[in-house]
Amino acid sequence: MSVSEAATRHLLQPRSGPNLLSLVIPTFNEEAVIPYLRSACEEFAGTLPCAVEVVLVNDGSVDGTLHQLVEWAAADPRIRVIHLSRNFGHQIAATAGLDHARGDAVVILDADLQDPLPVIHEMIARYCEGYDVVYGQRESRAGESLQKRFTAWLFYRIMRTFVDERLPVDTGDFRLISRECLNALMRMRETHRFLRGMTSWVGFAQIAVKYHRQPRRAGTTKYPLRKMLSFSWTAATSFSTVPLRVSALLGVLIGAVGLEEAARAILAYLIGWYTVPGWASLTVLTSLIGSAILISIGILGEYVAKLYEQSKERPLYLVARTFNMEEARPKPETLAEAVRQV
Ligand code: UDP
Ligand code: MG
Repeated sequence: MSVSEAATRHLLQPRSGPNLLSLVIPTFNEEAVIPYLRSACEEFAGTLPCAVEVVLVNDGSVDGTLHQLVEWAAADPRIRVIHLSRNFGHQIAATAGLDHARGDAVVILDADLQDPLPVIHEMIARYCEGYDVVYGQRESRAGESLQKRFTAWLFYRIMRTFVDERLPVDTGDFRLISRECLNALMRMRETHRFLRGMTSWVGFAQIAVKYHRQPRRAGTTKYPLRKMLSFSWTAATSFSTVPLRVSALLGVLIGAVGLEEAARAILAYLIGWYTVPGWASLTVLTSLIGSAILISIGILGEYVAKLYEQSKERPLYLVARTFNMEEARPKPETLAEAVRQV
């Protein structure tokens, strides 16, 4: 069992399927893929046992995407379109979609049909078992370049090691989120968003469903290497304070080298080895001064990290469910009585 599953093992409360399922789809310059998306969504909606709405976010596309989305919305009342004023990036576009989704369960997916719609049936089954987050985990990634697959592989391993060990590997944003969990997630209004990390941070009962990622249906990727690198950097720095602590660690390492050099120089002097006058003292002093400066920066980093965490104004805790809480909460009149008695 993976850490994330073990960490979120809950008392599962089975529930009935959602009355309304929302599909949240961010789109950026996807005119080539929208016709395929439209027919795939229409076909998929027919196989669902519940009502469905599709929340499409136009993330500042400069091609015919908006036109196609508006046309689709005019023909089908289940289609809702949010048009952002400019390109804000995938994570913010997805957030806008989540904010506007009305479903009891919400699924985030890419417009390019890389995430197969039928997997959602399996997600709904898990939702009915009581899971609040059902994330798609890729077993294979057909049609993606070796470089893309390698960077993605490396990304998840680095993130797990340095950022958050709860982050499941090989998962994208393709996931189902229950209304309870979504309400919690939406309370996190940080500017630099890393939705995958945030969804794992909120906790709740989470589980993976395995799937085979399909090749892009049409068009080209909107995540070139440059954007991937910037996304990874945002993920690392928006979710973790490890980078701020690196300088303290370097300081300790360089300090250790300085001390080792000092010990070696003293030993060499005592034993009578060949020594270069002045070399050891210079090396030792430079290392120790460097170390002191780096450690000081690291300490500053610690405070900056605390301020940074505080500035995110995340909720201190999140309540997944309550049991017998209504009865336990004192009614106003009894509260007034209690105050009088004190
Ligand atoms: N996307 C977006 N804003 C952006 C970049 C991408 O809304 O700035 C959307 C894009 O239209 C697609 C999804 O995010 O629906 C994932 O992008 P893409 O499929 O190009 O990424 P990849 O699957 O290649 O990593
Ligand atoms: Mg894609």
